Amino acid sequence: MEVQSYTGRCLCGNIEFALNAKPVWIGYCHCSSCRRATGAAAVTHVGVDDSDLSFVKGTRKIYESSPGVRRGFCSDCGSPVSYDSDRYKSYTQIYIGIFDKPELLIPQAHVHCNERIAWFNTKDNLPYFSGTGDDGSGDWKN
Ligand SMILES: [Zn+2]
Ligand SMILES: [Zn+2]
Repeated sequence: MEVQSYTGRCLCGNIEFALNAKPVWIGYCHCSSCRRATGAAAVTHVGVDDSDLSFVKGTRKIYESSPGVRRGFCSDCGSPVSYDSDRYKSYTQIYIGIFDKPELLIPQAHVHCNERIAWFNTKDNLPYFSGTGDDGSGDWKN
């Protein structure tokens, strides 16, 4: 079943997780806290019901980034893993980049756009290259 593909792990592999149902929400967050927590210009969250999420290996280290907000990460390799908040009971967001098949997870929205880095625009007119752009691999067509 397709659901089997909703698995993932941190960079070193000491933390592994699996979903036994589809995510309930997927979206980009442009807030400055997510930027700092991940080092990325924007992050993509995959929201899941806690009852559908299991950590099959390892334990996250938890950092409370603001009151009632907990960010989980791997204390061995530093991969950001999860975000959860008292505001949303029984719900956790997993960072899309640690899924084994992120291509299956399609973002639905952008949130906290008021904090977005001004140049960050997914409808931009930048060139898209299949490789590095200077390796002769040519344009990338979606
Ligand atoms: Zn790790
Ligand atoms: Zn955020």
